[in-house]
Amino acid sequence: MRDRWPSAYYVLNTLHQAGYKAYVVGGAVRDHLLGLPCKDLDVATDALPEQVMDLFHKTFATGIAHGTVTVVHEEPIEVTTFRVESEYVDKRRPSEVQFVRELRQDLARRDFTINAMALSKEEELVDYFDGQLDLQKKQIRAVGIAEERFEEDALRILRGIRFAAQLSFTIEATTLEAMKSKSHLLTFIAKERVKQEVSQIWLFQNPEIALSELKKTYMDASLPGSYSVLPVRHKPFQMSAHGWAWFHFFQKDPYTFPYSNNEKRLNAEVKRLIPLLAANGWSYHSVFNFSKDALVVAHEIMMDESKFVSLSDLDVWLEQAPIRHLEELALSGTELMKLTGLKAGPWIKQVKHQLADEILGERLENSQSALEKWVNEHVK
Ligand code: ATP
Ligand code: MG
Repeated sequence: MRDRWPSAYYVLNTLHQAGYKAYVVGGAVRDHLLGLPCKDLDVATDALPEQVMDLFHKTFATGIAHGTVTVVHEEPIEVTTFRVESEYVDKRRPSEVQFVRELRQDLARRDFTINAMALSKEEELVDYFDGQLDLQKKQIRAVGIAEERFEEDALRILRGIRFAAQLSFTIEATTLEAMKSKSHLLTFIAKERVKQEVSQIWLFQNPEIALSELKKTYMDASLPGSYSVLPVRHKPFQMSAHGWAWFHFFQKDPYTFPYSNNEKRLNAEVKRLIPLLAANGWSYHSVFNFSKDALVVAHEIMMDESKFVSLSDLDVWLEQAPIRHLEELALSGTELMKLTGLKAGPWIKQVKHQLADEILGERLENSQSALEKWVNEHVK
């Protein structure tokens, strides 16, 4: 572990030397056993959050109420105190967490057997629930009684689908039955949490696998937004914001998810851009003032009617654009005023748009001298 995860090794070692138990847990152990690169390292320990904070130089109280402290040692590592979730009052979030002494209890509260393993710094695998066997069988199986686990937290149902699609695993029969019978509980889950899981689906090699699974199990009916309206999608999106803009484009109810400001901006752009492209085709005129992200998503949505075979063709084309934004004009507002001797006013923007129009129509070159000449001839 020292060579593979030096920072995690350092964290485990420091905790050990202070007399605490500590393990790498969850996704990192799963991905390591599968020979996949691991995204983030989670450590579980019997040290309390304050004790963890005392031991390391650089820490953040990321989720202290839930026992999580982020330790930064070359990279950020989340260190969470062994815990159980005692009551699930509203089916959304555990109402209370309780710190415990034993690793086994901490692993028992985890969602799936493949996510419920721990690795010591000596590379000893702790596997109380046959996670390794399920990895070999390539199956997703709930820890404990599936129905109960989904009643505690229905987000696990969506996570199960997400992991199955991500890893090309099947869902073990009892777990699948419980998913179906409890899927209605997904309506209780906070949209932010649902969004986090679905965001990952957009990045999968083949999002359609997860999306069709959601539809087949009727789970989509309990999620915000409509999934039946989506076209098939066999390719990953470059980033999850692209996936959301794609999703949003096909929705009838526009306010289904708590989008970030950037996502809202992109969603709106794509909605404006597609009708323009459908009407006018892919000309520099119709893509003027749109972001590259919006163009990429529009290309993904229009595909057959798109001017381009691939995204790199789109790139090349955009590189060649004489102008993409008003700010790229080779003549500024101040220069316009100087040139004409006129005072500031709305005319500046009008003239700029005229200039842009000429340039986009390839009747005018975007150079200062050419623009000055045009202004002298046309602006009185
Ligand atoms: P990924 O590689 O996608 O991050 P992960 O397994 O690390 O997968 P996380 O969402 O980062 O998933 O969660 C870390 C660990 O916390 C999981 O492996 C699992 O053990 C546990 N966990 C996360 N969410 C839940 C949940 N809703 N119920 C029970 N355990 C959970
Ligand atoms: Mg993770």
